[in-house]
Amino acid sequence: MTTPGLARNNQRSQALWFALAVVALAGPLIGLMFFAVTPQRELQFLSAFVPALAAFATMAYLTWQTRLRNIVFGLILAVVLAFLTFGTEQALRYLHFRSISVTGFIQRDGNSLTIDAAERMVDKILEQRTGATGFLGYVRYAMSVGVVVSSSYAPIGPTNQVTGSGVLFYWFADGLIILGGALSGAWWANRRTFCVHCQSYYGRISTGGADMGLKRIGWIARESIDEFTRLINADHLEQAGTLLQNYRMANVGLELRAEYCPSCDTNPVIISAYRVRRFRGSDRNLAFRHTMSADDYHRLTTFAQVISHKWSLEVADEWMLGMGIVVAFLGGILWLYGVIAF
Ligand SMILES: [Zn+2]
Repeated sequence: MTTPGLARNNQRSQALWFALAVVALAGPLIGLMFFAVTPQRELQFLSAFVPALAAFATMAYLTWQTRLRNIVFGLILAVVLAFLTFGTEQALRYLHFRSISVTGFIQRDGNSLTIDAAERMVDKILEQRTGATGFLGYVRYAMSVGVVVSSSYAPIGPTNQVTGSGVLFYWFADGLIILGGALSGAWWANRRTFCVHCQSYYGRISTGGADMGLKRIGWIARESIDEFTRLINADHLEQAGTLLQNYRMANVGLELRAEYCPSCDTNPVIISAYRVRRFRGSDRNLAFRHTMSADDYHRLTTFAQVISHKWSLEVADEWMLGMGIVVAFLGGILWLYGVIAF
């Protein structure tokens, strides 16, 4: 026989492993993306924001999926994710540098040099110039040669050659931007309503413009708005519910969305009503927001035609998909920019 406490502990350790697995997978992937979108030997201020956005999405997704409520643990996960992302990007840059150098040496030598000999030659030259071989030698070399920082946004002007500690500064800035993305992702996701009883997140996700994460429950015709509002305010909820339709009619006036814990009745239900404009489908204006008890919500929906949610995506998945598209779009722009610039 398992006790509830044990089951919860078991769930927690599962969540912990899941979180670690996601970070271990996402870090190198985002790092690879960062490497791919940043043009060679150029550090672009803007490009660090693409992996930062991906880190933001990863941490937000993690927070919801694993019901992460622990600030210290969230902090550690964000730091590990940023470290893996930045580390992968730097490691790839190093490998790329080596492979270019090796090819260069072989070509210069009229193809008589073996790969092993060329590899040794790279290390030898690194050691001569910097006193170190391998990755450390590469870092020192990059610092001495410098990197071109070009960006129309950077405070340093359009294009600049940065050397010495300036290189370290820009690497540090890149790492910080990625860490900032990861941390704000966890923080932002954590602000969502949390059901203590079920240990899960639910409800509205604040995103400046459109509210996400709400369940659409139905529509109210334009002519019925006044009556609906009056009935709600007079607590005639069953009657108000009869005005609710589960299809978007031609004379639609309001769209109703609800947020409630999907698995229990312990939290109040919040209903949001948005004005529907005839010619601006995506533009949603909040008409009113009404908080009611779970019992009152049942009264409202007793005689109502409420949309069933059998086929709707999980909110976290829906949101992840949206972020994925944004990241792919921004990454694509940077990639194109890199292709055109070189
Ligand atoms: Zn609940």
